[in-house]
Amino acid sequence: MSIAPVHAPVATAPQAAQGWTPSSWRDKPALQMPVYPDAAELAAAQDELRALPPLVTSREILSLKQQLAEAQEGRRFLLQGGDCAESFSECNAEVITNRLKVLLQMSLVLVHGLKVPVVRVGRFAGQYAKPRSADMETRDGVALPSYRGDIVNGPEFTAQARIPDPRRMIKAHARSAMTMNFVRSLIDGGFADLHHPEYWGLGWVGQSPHAAEYQKMVENIGDAVRFMETLAGRQMQSLNRVDFYTSHEALLLPYEEAQTRKVPRADGWFNLSTHFPWIGMRTAALDGAHVEYFRGIQNPVAVKVGPSVTPEQLLPLIDALNPDNEPGRLGLIHRMGAQQIAEKLPPLLEAVRREGRRVLWICDAMHGNTESTRNGYKTRRFENIRSEIEQAFDLHAAAGTRLGGVHLELTGENVTECLGGARELTELDLQRAYRTTVDPRLNYEQALEIAMLIVRKRGA
Ligand code: PEP
Ligand code: MN
Repeated sequence: MSIAPVHAPVATAPQAAQGWTPSSWRDKPALQMPVYPDAAELAAAQDELRALPPLVTSREILSLKQQLAEAQEGRRFLLQGGDCAESFSECNAEVITNRLKVLLQMSLVLVHGLKVPVVRVGRFAGQYAKPRSADMETRDGVALPSYRGDIVNGPEFTAQARIPDPRRMIKAHARSAMTMNFVRSLIDGGFADLHHPEYWGLGWVGQSPHAAEYQKMVENIGDAVRFMETLAGRQMQSLNRVDFYTSHEALLLPYEEAQTRKVPRADGWFNLSTHFPWIGMRTAALDGAHVEYFRGIQNPVAVKVGPSVTPEQLLPLIDALNPDNEPGRLGLIHRMGAQQIAEKLPPLLEAVRREGRRVLWICDAMHGNTESTRNGYKTRRFENIRSEIEQAFDLHAAAGTRLGGVHLELTGENVTECLGGARELTELDLQRAYRTTVDPRLNYEQALEIAMLIVRKRGA
């Protein structure tokens, strides 16, 4: 998001998708859509959105596509992370700063350990819509419509809060713009201390069985940074200038449609609410509305791939979303779970490799590892997250494919939502700082530890 690249890639205009318009999704089954009580209010909100300036530019989007193409070839590694669901009430300086910090610190660990540039993509500035497994939620015998993310309705368990309100789309757009604006300013300001691990919160490292290795990694980063600074005689400009991109699940199609703009310079339609939208697992049907919408935009796009997907389903989906086999266009985010990945992933890798499809393989190590504790918390075990990532590297190596990135739910805050990690959080710890409105996130320390584990596995 610099965040402008020095050389914008030349826009190649792939063939316009046949019969596609920003609203052609309306002729297909659209799952997970809220039912708005007043169609005229919805249309008015969409008109208002269409007239507002975009959040990102086609130039940035095309430079990300180029970087993703390089990640596909092993010349970069993708780090994609952020909240499961952003909330309007947490759109504040502290949360945004801490989330950006942990992502940048993780990316520094990865750059130094993997020896390739990292593509940084936040799950933020628009991650407001959530798919739900049930339309209704029942508490103490009372049933209300499920919470579908702040862009749709409110999380409070009252009939009023749960009514879908199209005005929330305007608020989501404004909150996204504020988030982007602040992130862009923070990055432009340099964030210099971030390069010096001695200022990071690393008190947990000593508690890990890998303490010595982690300590060494941290020292290496510090040495490299000091060396570069001495060479340059000042803070190196290249250390301070980073590209940062955004992504969200483009679930709420009326919102995404209103953010879809024709860009004359690049000759085509772009979703200008985010750089890298993805399709969630529940809305990835080949003949569904989401695939229809996504096939016509020029952004790089991704789709979640769960354990029930077969090669026979995956190949037509790839062809629908990337008919020209364009490099950097399509990410496949597999989310199998630590127990299932060894069985479910290899047939997909084999089929995609055999058929010569160009995709960027990304491991979401969160969503296949969700469980409930006896005391009623939705959680994930650090060990399962770690195991899924480690298995993913091995399975790709065995299949002759490449794991090009990871997708994580994390926050820069000191929450207690996932179990385990160096501090060995237990079920009793969950009640201390469990703050997510939807899925459990890695906290600051757990997120940094995952970056170090990736380096242990792949780097050194
Ligand atoms: C998510 O990324 O928050 C999510 C709902 O994922 P999935 O579609 O993979 O279940
Ligand atoms: Mn989630």
